[in-house]
Amino acid sequence: MDEALLTQHPDVLVVTGRDGRVVHWSHGATVVLGHAVAEALDQPLTMLLAPEEGVQVPRRAIATLQDRGDGRAEVVVRHRDGSLLCVDFVTRRLRGALTGHVLWAGRDVTPPTLVRSARHLRARYGGLLEAAPDAMVIVDADGRIVLANSQTAALFGYACEELIGYPVEMLLPEAFRAAHVAHRRDFAAHPRTRAMGAGLALYAMRRSGEAFPVEISLSPIRTADGTLTSAAIRDITARKAVERRLQEQNLRLAQANEATTNFLAGMSHELRTPLNAIIGFTGTLLMQMAGPLNEEQDKQLRTVQWAAQHLLTLINDLLDLTRIESGETHVERAPVPAVTVARDVATQLRGQAEDKGLALEVDLPDDEIVLLSDRRALSQILMNLLANAVKYTDMGGVRFMMRRTPSCVRFEVSDTGIGIRAEDRERLFKAFSRLERGNDTRQGTGLGLYLSARLAALLGGRIEFDSTVGTGSTFRLILPED
Ligand code: ADP
Repeated sequence: MDEALLTQHPDVLVVTGRDGRVVHWSHGATVVLGHAVAEALDQPLTMLLAPEEGVQVPRRAIATLQDRGDGRAEVVVRHRDGSLLCVDFVTRRLRGALTGHVLWAGRDVTPPTLVRSARHLRARYGGLLEAAPDAMVIVDADGRIVLANSQTAALFGYACEELIGYPVEMLLPEAFRAAHVAHRRDFAAHPRTRAMGAGLALYAMRRSGEAFPVEISLSPIRTADGTLTSAAIRDITARKAVERRLQEQNLRLAQANEATTNFLAGMSHELRTPLNAIIGFTGTLLMQMAGPLNEEQDKQLRTVQWAAQHLLTLINDLLDLTRIESGETHVERAPVPAVTVARDVATQLRGQAEDKGLALEVDLPDDEIVLLSDRRALSQILMNLLANAVKYTDMGGVRFMMRRTPSCVRFEVSDTGIGIRAEDRERLFKAFSRLERGNDTRQGTGLGLYLSARLAALLGGRIEFDSTVGTGSTFRLILPED
């Protein structure tokens, strides 16, 4: 046989020895199959054309042709670059000097879709795919992988070439495959870009069989060979683990919170009973119903009474807190004479203001304003705001005002007190938050404003304030009128 003819032949012409190793490799074989002569010579043809055994590239088909010598078959083989080709091989067993050798004449009969698009895509998108942060695969209309980047190979534990030509379902756990085929068909019928994490709980499977959660985004790519789909795959194992831990923690926190709320509610009730006895009997002693008191006894009993009253306020605040936290506080919507409520609150606090030498200016509308609201909640908020104004003011006075606007009613409490620093604004309405101010000894729980803001919200309103340190503060309760 003419050596030069063989080598330079533009078609696939290959000669294999008895052992199936290549002894001649034509120029056409290099063009079609990718391997240079030097790479092909002396290699078993099966290894060149089917580097790994698989469904797509059955080594057996090549081995059978080699054994039989004379035959013809269309065989799917791998190009050197990993893409798939379909080659129509005609084989002849040679005689004479080359007895036992087999001549392979082949023609590339690859259908225009799979491999051509793979090459084309590799040239066009290969670099882009490699630069992507995620694992990316491009899948043809039949669901076969035509291109995969090295991130995909690493994530799934395959070599890139091992993925090419296989149904994309190989990357899914068994249980999801059938459903995925249906999804895929649906997507092919209505291709549209679908973003990551579109609410689907998806799983992928590594070569080792290990399943892991993923997020996938899909986009159609229209090419001359039909519509392909690019899929970006992101391993979200770590994120899922964090989410699970957070959920567990939240559940534990919610349980702990509920236990605390129940405990506080129970305790507050238990504490109030003996406290009522203390306050009640201190009162009767002070009224000298049980006998006369000397001056010192009277003074000490008044201290007991003041301390017990103070304790009762704290317990009541705690009870209010637990009710609000557990959602037990329900406000009723009933007609409330708001001007009367405001006047009652002012009357109750006038004594405290006067005891501190503060002027209490009350500026309320002459006519009643009836609000659809909750009397107890309104009264409690105004009481808190006014009591704070008196408590945190040492000189000057407090002004209590009420105004009606077209859509709402505004209550305003201004004082000439110590004021609030800008950096403390955020903390003011948090539970148990008291602002530390040197050696200020004013008593409080830090619950008043928190409860007031929560109650205001339940009434459909809000609390606002302005303040200047050393000059004073203005707190406003704004309630809707209907
Ligand atoms: P409490 O008065 O029981 O400490 P509050 O929730 O009513 O709790 O108020 C929280 C904090 O806001 C108070 O500790 C106080 O430092 C500050 N504050 C509230 N009202 C005023 C006011 N009118 N002037 C200055 N500071 C105030």
